Amino acid sequence: MTSVAVVGTGAVGSMALWRLAERGIPAVGFDAYAPGHDRGAAGGESRIFRTAYKEGPEYVPLLREARTLWEELERVSGRRLLTPVGGVTAGPRDHPKIRAVLAAARAHDLPVEVLTGRDARERVPEHPLREGEVLVADPDAGHLRPEPAVVAAANAAEQAGARIARYTPVHEVRADATGVTVVTGDGRHRFTHAVLAPGPWAATPGVLLPQPLARHVSAMAITSTWFPRRDETLFGPQRCPIAIRVGEPAYSCFPSVDGAGVKVNLHVPWRPIGSPESLPRSVPVAYVRQVAEAVAATLPGLRPDPIRVATYADAFSPDGHGLLGRMGRTVVAAAFSGHGFKLAPVFGDIVADLVETGATARGIGHLAPNRPLRRSP
Ligand SMILES: Cc1cc2nc3c(=O)[nH]c(=O)nc-3n(C[C@H](O)[C@H](O)[C@H](O)COP(=O)(O)OP(=O)(O)OC[C@H]3O[C@@H](n4cnc5c(N)ncnc54)[C@H](O)[C@@H]3O)c2cc1C
Repeated sequence: MTSVAVVGTGAVGSMALWRLAERGIPAVGFDAYAPGHDRGAAGGESRIFRTAYKEGPEYVPLLREARTLWEELERVSGRRLLTPVGGVTAGPRDHPKIRAVLAAARAHDLPVEVLTGRDARERVPEHPLREGEVLVADPDAGHLRPEPAVVAAANAAEQAGARIARYTPVHEVRADATGVTVVTGDGRHRFTHAVLAPGPWAATPGVLLPQPLARHVSAMAITSTWFPRRDETLFGPQRCPIAIRVGEPAYSCFPSVDGAGVKVNLHVPWRPIGSPESLPRSVPVAYVRQVAEAVAATLPGLRPDPIRVATYADAFSPDGHGLLGRMGRTVVAAAFSGHGFKLAPVFGDIVADLVETGATARGIGHLAPNRPLRRSP
């Protein structure tokens, strides 16, 4: 009979555990910490959900399914996890990323709108445009609550019959002809299959991902900064859309979830780190100055000195697409490259497909772990 070890109960592992348990497949989640902690890739209060996807139209069907599953998790948990405020991408009309958003929308007939001038100013006063810029509005976007979402998925998994071994780091996963052995400080545990969802720890040499895959994965630090509002009527969490600004400067900007600060993630080359265990708590002053200048230049509704700065880690593949697929008795679910949270529920359901039948009907060819892993231009 099938039995599954899910190594890592962060964003994707907790969803995989939930989806496996919903299918009645016995599963145990192992985590070095506990679901909902903020030391991996799922910390920092908010995440963007969007559908007109500049990373490629092949994601759109997955995003539609992810949205349905977010709504199901909200029903099961009784918690609001996805606030559907819509989203905008702002930037020069001909910027390749603006074109990529529009191409994804065209390919899937998504109801995006291109806003300029007074229309843009009135509808999205938080994000004024500069000469030659447009706002592409995606009504099917919003913001997610990452830590409560992971807790909700883990609870839903446990309610459906899964077990979670908290504060139990996995040292090794060994596959053989009849199953897998998971080695922890408590001993050896046998399962028929293992799911490897270690997030930014995927890059830690020799820990979990099979070689040569692990060699291609890098752990990177992403810093978030929170700025106070000048006008409390702007950036409200129930009405202000999430925003991505492309061009110069480039960042993502979230409504004020807690009422105190508006989060801005400046898009600069992420800092490589060896392991999330050594995630730097301090941030170079030059970085803080750079993000403050970006806010001063483009977000007049904010005071440009941050009141909170925090750094998180994620695992990246060379081409910026995750690794999701079955390799023998293990399913690899890793390296979601800074944009995996919104997709976590559908990735979890795909993991369940891959365990149950060895295949999935969902289009995940672009995520195949055995694809040639080349750096994207
Ligand atoms: C600052 C930041 C902003 C982001 N913004 C967005 C966004 O707006 N929208 C979006 O869609 N995505 C976003 N992402 C990306 C998204 O959050 C990640 O891609 C996603 O959380 C990855 O999930 P994961 O399950 O792979 O990793 P994690 O959520 O980190 O989970 C990995 C888990 O594995 C456990 N683990 C690791 N090794 C072991 C071991 N040996 N034994 C036991 N347990 C282990 C860890 O403790 C952890 O709980 C962002 C990421 C960051 C860092």
